[in-house]
Amino acid sequence: MDELNILKQQIEREKAARRNAEKQLQRIQRTQAQSEATAVALSAETRFRRLLDSASDIIYEIDLDGRFTYANPMVMRRLGLNRLEEVVGQHYLSLVHPADRSQTADFYAQQYHTKTFSTYQEFRLATAVAEPVWLGQNVWLAYLGDEIVGFQAIARDISSRKKMENELQTQRDFGQQIMANLGQGLTVVGPNGLFEYVNPAYARMLGYTEAELLGKDPTCFTHPDDLDALLAARDQRGTGETTTYETRLVQKDGGILYALLTGVPRWVDGRSAGSVTVITDMTERKLMEQEMLHARDRAVELSNLKSQFVANMSHEIRTPLNGVIGMTELLAETPLDEEQLELVDIIRTSSDALLSIINNVLDFSKISEDKLDLEMQPVIMREILEEAIDIVSPKVARKNVEIAYVLAQGTPPVILGDGGRLRQILVNLLSNAVKFTEAGEVTVSVISQPHADGRPQLHFAVKDTGIGIPPEAVTRIFQSFSQVDASTTRKYGGTGLGLAISQHLCQKMGGQMWVESNLGEGSAFHFTIDAAAPAEYVPESLPKLKELSQKRVLIVGENAASGPILAQQTELWDMLPSTAVSGTQTLTWLHEGRPLEQQKPASTSPARILLAEDNLVNQQVALSILEHLGFQAQVAANGLEVLAALEKQPYDVILMDIQMPEMDGLEATRQICARLPEGERPYIIAMTANAVKGDRERYLATGMNDYISKPVRIAAIAEALAQFTPSA
Ligand code: ADP
Repeated sequence: MDELNILKQQIEREKAARRNAEKQLQRIQRTQAQSEATAVALSAETRFRRLLDSASDIIYEIDLDGRFTYANPMVMRRLGLNRLEEVVGQHYLSLVHPADRSQTADFYAQQYHTKTFSTYQEFRLATAVAEPVWLGQNVWLAYLGDEIVGFQAIARDISSRKKMENELQTQRDFGQQIMANLGQGLTVVGPNGLFEYVNPAYARMLGYTEAELLGKDPTCFTHPDDLDALLAARDQRGTGETTTYETRLVQKDGGILYALLTGVPRWVDGRSAGSVTVITDMTERKLMEQEMLHARDRAVELSNLKSQFVANMSHEIRTPLNGVIGMTELLAETPLDEEQLELVDIIRTSSDALLSIINNVLDFSKISEDKLDLEMQPVIMREILEEAIDIVSPKVARKNVEIAYVLAQGTPPVILGDGGRLRQILVNLLSNAVKFTEAGEVTVSVISQPHADGRPQLHFAVKDTGIGIPPEAVTRIFQSFSQVDASTTRKYGGTGLGLAISQHLCQKMGGQMWVESNLGEGSAFHFTIDAAAPAEYVPESLPKLKELSQKRVLIVGENAASGPILAQQTELWDMLPSTAVSGTQTLTWLHEGRPLEQQKPASTSPARILLAEDNLVNQQVALSILEHLGFQAQVAANGLEVLAALEKQPYDVILMDIQMPEMDGLEATRQICARLPEGERPYIIAMTANAVKGDRERYLATGMNDYISKPVRIAAIAEALAQFTPSA
């Protein structure tokens, strides 16, 4: 723009010079006319000659043949001549660059023929140098009376202006070329809001010619639903901002083009005056995006189907397994000889193993779907540890292995977390420890180990004295379906999912899992979890073991770790432990064990039981267990039958399956609560196979009293029934 200003000034200067020259010439003419008449004229002519001689412009006079009759010194200098005599008679075209000669000659011939008094013409000067010298020349017809006798000319060097003009033109051409060849659309909108310029690409995008678009309003080519965006952008640009927005454009044939527009405001004299906009065709990308969204939806749908399939399958497998496990338990309670007992035991361990595989597969599919959510409930640490140990203890009993746990001093008794999942991790690690240890001990220890920033964290370690893990397998065993070597499955069983699931669970709990192991010496599996204390948890007061206080205890054992663990535990009870390493023959227990009371359920237990279960095998299992416990029960196959049965007679307890046809257990419970006042409602125990997070709360909220999971076990049913206290 600077150049344009310089050019303007240059033109102004030239105009002034031209005006000046015109005045001079007129004066010459006037003076010549006078000089012929008066004596004063002579001196006047001398004056003017001097003036002409000193002028920096080229000034000359020619006759009708084009030959010089007068030329000022500038002409002589240009032609390389010294004296006026040498110039006179020369043709004026010798001043003109050969390339411009014929055109210039034609121009003045034309002036003569049309008798145009004054003209202006630009041409190049004949020079030896390559750089062109441009002249701008004013020419008047010279009259003698009515007759044209020649031409008077005044010309000046306009090369620098010409040069600048050329440069500007080159720049303009360059810009024009870019805009014309740009792949993106480019439009210029004037102050009136109409297209002043559109480039070929923009015209092509819309299927119009450039001419068809010029002078049109951009709103005519915008999708009606997107007009608001366009107007908003226009307002925004009015405040000087650049706008970028997506919009749909309407093509000549009615097609839709998705476009990204970037509009820059134009300013003229400090006022906003339209905009320059770059338009990018996004149609292909948009279609691809839609295609991708579509593909993602399909993938999500497929993966949902897959996890639904896995959930259904595990449910389907669980039902017959329920029959196997339940009946095996009952069978084991009948009088059996040793061989039969062994066979039953094999059935039981096999079906337990199958159940844990199904549970693992279900967990694994939830993990890979990222659908495994954790609960946040108060977790009593001691309970979780003891439950986990209880679960593996039957296997421990069959081996020469001891098992113990220790909660280090300072470990919070209660944390906020998912107790079920924490127990699952511990059971996985403990089962492995027991599985891979023939003799020695398995210990669990927990210590509080806050993060560097003070956040509470617990560190668990499950140690064994078993076969150990070779160094090269240490990272591999955490991968799904991975075991130390192929013979592991044959020898020890398992699917290789346990550690993968456990590691994932503890990562979800904010921690990590790793292993330290020496081949042949044993392994130590470590894991950490975030463990915040629950906000408003009132801990149940632990029973005061007053009778143990200050009593001396002798701890006898062969294993290194369990001795100190027991010592620590008894110290917590304010006892005075001493540990002995060898099995001394004469051990005097310093206190007596508490006798276990075997509760007979029939005395305090419900008389009228309704079993709501649609599956025949499951009905059979539950009825047999109830019978074994000394109860009779009626059966309802779905929620509607439950309601019908309650119409006929009251029940004390309903064992309620959740998933049933016609009316499920939840709806049946709701109906019962709606129909019967609180004191008259039966005690409802939910039974379900695939319990997930929050189910228990949901059941209780519906009005159920308790919850047991399938496969149902004798102990679980007995315990649930024992919770029931007859109201009258
Ligand atoms: P699974 O036990 O069902 O095969 P896991 O993921 O729990 O699957 O364990 C993977 C493998 O890691 C085991 O098969 C075994 O080879 C090895 N492993 C796990 N725990 C121990 C341990 N305490 N001692 C020796 N090897 C172990």
